[in-house]
Amino acid sequence: MKHALLPAALALVIAIGAVATQVCPVDKTTMTATGETREEEGKTLAEYRCEKGHVYWIAVD
Ligand SMILES: [Zn+2]
Repeated sequence: MKHALLPAALALVIAIGAVATQVCPVDKTTMTATGETREEEGKTLAEYRCEKGHVYWIAVD
C-alpha cells in the first residue's frame, strides 16, 4: 500500500510550490495558467500546464 502515499505526497509538494513559483515537480519546467478554473470544496482551483504538458490544479485562494 506504499504506492497510495505517493499521490498525496505529490499533491502536498504541488500545494507548497504553488505559493512560491509554479514549477512542474516532474520536470522542473515553468508552469503557466491556462485560464481554466473550477470550484472544489469551497476553494478555487486554477489549471496550470508545464512546458512538457503536465496539467495540475492549484488552489489560488
Ligand atoms: Zn511537467
